[in-house]
Parts: sequence; structure tokens; C-alpha cells
Amino acid sequence: MKFTTPSIITEMPTKQEYVEKYDKGLCADLAFKQAKKVHIRTCLAEAQNWKCCFCGVEMVEYPNQSNSATIEHVTPASKGGENSADNYAISCNRCNSNRGDLDWKIFMERKHEVIQKEKSKRQRDMEKRLEKWLKKAHKHASMNWQVNDIVQSFDDWIATLKLGKYKDQFMQMLHEDGVKMS
Ligand SMILES: [Zn+2]
Repeated sequence: MKFTTPSIITEMPTKQEYVEKYDKGLCADLAFKQAKKVHIRTCLAEAQNWKCCFCGVEMVEYPNQSNSATIEHVTPASKGGENSADNYAISCNRCNSNRGDLDWKIFMERKHEVIQKEKSKRQRDMEKRLEKWLKKAHKHASMNWQVNDIVQSFDDWIATLKLGKYKDQFMQMLHEDGVKMS
């Protein structure tokens, strides 16, 4: 006999209900165990507001996605961590598999490093884009507008410049990434 388990179980049914539902003992046992696991996962995820304990991403109840909610052993089972609610947290699938059985503090430190690297890469990309935009804007300006010595700062310059359809995008880009130009 086959059984299916919902991906969210907020209220745990009793063992008896499973015994009544599945006439074969083993199936009732397996289904009950599975349901218990889902129930624990649901409770923990609810407690964490469905946010990954490592990266804070919004998690989904469905399995096999990078942001699926998975049960995480705070102290890995391979390092003596117990299978108990005290030792459980919920993380996204991605963090869970990236962490493996690393100590969570070390994992967080590494994660932080990766985020910093990604950030500085983003910053560099942003600067490149800005440079491109500036060149474009300069070209535009020299063709259509006279940029003269009165314009002292970037802000003054951008205020006088008409970038046409690009202006909003350009300003938003500056704003978003908090790039300060002087
Ligand atoms: Zn995560």
C-alpha cells in the first residue's frame, strides 16, 4: 500500500488514526514516522517564520528546490548531535547542502566571506556600468549640450544633463547601489 504525506502538518494525528487508515502495520508505522517528521519541520519552520536560519531566504514547503525548508542539525549528527528538537533548526536546501557537517559558526563565517566577495564583485560591476553610462552621457552631452566650467560636481552636472529616456534608469541605478559620485 502506498501512502502520501502532505508537505505541511500543523496538527499531528494520533498513531491510532494511522493504524485505522492503513491496515498493514508497517505502512501505518512508516506513514506515521514520515508525518511526524513533516510535523516537526512544519512547527520549526513556523517558529522561524519560514526564513532560513543561515541566509534568511523565504523558504517553501515543497521539496527539492533550492529554497525548500529542510531540517538542519545544529550540531551535525556525525559530530554527536542528537536527533531532538533542541538540536534542530530549519534551513533552506541550498544552505543545508552547502554546510554539510561543518560547524555552523565556521559555515556562517565562510558564508559571510562569500557574501562580501559577491558584494565587491557587484560593486566592481556597478562601477564598470557607471563608467560606461558616464561615457555615454558625456558623448550625449557633448553632442547636445554644452558642459562648461560652471558645472562643478557630478550632481550639478547630472541635474543639467538631459539623458532623455535613460535618465530615470540612470538615477535609479545610482540610488540603488548607493554609489557616491563627487
Ligand atoms: Zn539558506
